[in-house]
Amino acid sequence: MDNTAGIDAPIKSVKGVGAKTELLFQKIGVYTIGDILLRFPREYAAFPQPVEISTISQAAPGRRQAVIFRAENAAIVKYTRSMPVTIANGSHQGVSMEFLWFRMPFVKNTLKRGQTYILFGCVLNKSGRLSMEQPLIHTPEQYAALAGTLQPVYGLTAGLTNNLYKKTLRWVLGQNLLLPEYLPQKIREAHGLAELNDAVLHVHFPADFEALTKARRRLVFDEFFLFALSVQLQKVQGQKIENQYVVDGDLKPLLEKLPYRLTNAQSRVLEEIRGDLRGPYMMQRLVQGDVGSGKTVLAFLAMYLVSKSGCQSAIMAPTEVLAVQHYETFASYCDLFGVKAHLVLLTGSMTARQKRRAYERMQLFSDAMVIGTHALFQEQAVYDSLALVVTDEQHRFGVRQRETFSYKGHNPHILVMSATPIPRTLAIILYGDLDISVIDEVPAQRLPIKNCVVGTEWRPNAYAFIRREAEAGHQAYVICPLVEESEYAQGEDVISYTHRLQEVLPDSITVACLHGKMRPELKNKIMESFAANEIQVLVSTTVVEVGVNVPNATVMMIEDAQRFGLAQLHQLRGRVGRGDAQSYCILIHTSQEKGSAKRLEILKQTNDGFRIASEDLKLRGPGDFFGIRQSGDLAFQLADIYQDSDVLQMASKEVQRILARDPSLELPEHKNLREKACMFMGGQLERLNL
Ligand code: ADP
Ligand code: MG
Repeated sequence: MDNTAGIDAPIKSVKGVGAKTELLFQKIGVYTIGDILLRFPREYAAFPQPVEISTISQAAPGRRQAVIFRAENAAIVKYTRSMPVTIANGSHQGVSMEFLWFRMPFVKNTLKRGQTYILFGCVLNKSGRLSMEQPLIHTPEQYAALAGTLQPVYGLTAGLTNNLYKKTLRWVLGQNLLLPEYLPQKIREAHGLAELNDAVLHVHFPADFEALTKARRRLVFDEFFLFALSVQLQKVQGQKIENQYVVDGDLKPLLEKLPYRLTNAQSRVLEEIRGDLRGPYMMQRLVQGDVGSGKTVLAFLAMYLVSKSGCQSAIMAPTEVLAVQHYETFASYCDLFGVKAHLVLLTGSMTARQKRRAYERMQLFSDAMVIGTHALFQEQAVYDSLALVVTDEQHRFGVRQRETFSYKGHNPHILVMSATPIPRTLAIILYGDLDISVIDEVPAQRLPIKNCVVGTEWRPNAYAFIRREAEAGHQAYVICPLVEESEYAQGEDVISYTHRLQEVLPDSITVACLHGKMRPELKNKIMESFAANEIQVLVSTTVVEVGVNVPNATVMMIEDAQRFGLAQLHQLRGRVGRGDAQSYCILIHTSQEKGSAKRLEILKQTNDGFRIASEDLKLRGPGDFFGIRQSGDLAFQLADIYQDSDVLQMASKEVQRILARDPSLELPEHKNLREKACMFMGGQLERLNL
């Protein structure tokens, strides 16, 4: 590599990374050497001590284990439906076990007769016959080097293996390039935080658990610190602004046409919003309301008032699926209320022509209600008189999108909606200036969701149940943690699961899959078909977690439920129980560990998102925080606002201290920090003239 290139050099400058691999890296957001260093493992694989085949039956089947395998005979390759299956048989003290590799005929040559191997994989016990599918193959020496270590597992894309990823990283780390340390030493010392490069090294390749904990703490601090810094820096800018769009109007005729009455909490929050819109200052409000508390209708009403006064408004959703759905919901509200509004949909996956039409409509109608994803604020989208921006499911957005509000030279009213229960003190740190409204009530007439936590042996019952519900005209979600089969990460994956369900369920029931790696257009299409009940069973990753509203769906089945944070499970569960019919949530629990089932039981006891999040924290020990996250994507890679709330407070205090002394980060000792903050905010600092 060219040594002067350093941290910003393209990933292609790594030895062994060619043009093809570079594309794969780019697909997961790795463009430079610095990017790969700062993209952290999703979880860590532990490698247990290898055991003899004869002792497996005593250990727990269903777990990933390392097994000692002596290749006494050559492996054979069979073909089932033209798929090659490599089969090897092992035995120890009269207990035998079968090892299978699908579509990997070359394994036959890897396994040399007379040699011993350590095979690592999930032990299956099919009516007393032990087997292992797709195990990883190691020589005893290779395995010895792994045993007892924590191996990083990265989020990948097809064609890019974890091994290649690790190799690339190791090579980069071997170059001894230094990321500039931007945290002032005083702060590091005061809180016992690791040095940045040290932390980066140990988060990828931890020497042990303790080193990992320490590395993580530093990086979590950074995430919060930069976040709080960006919030505070904007605050300097965004003092209370005089209301330039005083908006008011009568909503009563509309509310009378709703098929339900607003809950007291909805009415209260609606009044708070209206108070802002006609008040002396521009609105800056966060509305927190649990899943199903009915936030969408409030967003519509606020936007409607703005539109009636002749101004434009926009609502930004975190996913295309949700944006399209909001668009349709808004259209049906217009019908229901008998009002005419100029709705415009604008998402990233629309064709150039569709986008041009959307832009034209925005120019044509000075009272347009624009609905979309962050495409709303791309260069070509020109607003006429943007008086209100609503951000739905705010926690899903990165920091950068937050600032796009001011990009367009407008200073609109800002309404932020979130279903993530955040304690008030944390909300103030995370959202800075915003006033906070809480919808602390869900519509009363809804039947509470029935919950159960069961083991894998209950699956056939669950499938039969889904079948009955589908045949009665309802629909079901099945959630799996993984997109596709993965060598290290264990758990059910959406793709194989969809096939499995298609086989189990009759042809009259349409099963489809949905995951984040699909093209947006395809995702939208599938979600639309599901909403139209053309698909009855949707096997999905957590992409449906946020906001999706299909009231006809009555079953939420979640595989490997113990792998999810309770707050996240609560969000997922919130996708059902939205209509009049009784709904059900089936949590399939696949871990042998006792405590994890107990944790899931909390979901049965309460429907209160707030309580769920705090109970979850109480139950979990300090060792539990890798792999399980409270809430899907809070714009942080590692940090979790619940379990790391102490670090969040700490980081926020330090930000205040620094800015009190050096409000524009001009002191020489803050040079690196200033640069980092600039980068973090996508170059915004320059524009802020700091
Ligand atoms: P969320 O707050 O999770 O975004 P939604 O706005 O999607 O919730 O509302 C969930 C469902 O509840 C929708 O089908 C909506 O029409 C319905 N809903 C909203 N408010 C009420 C109410 N006051 N009474 C009954 N149903 C309501
Ligand atoms: Mg919503």
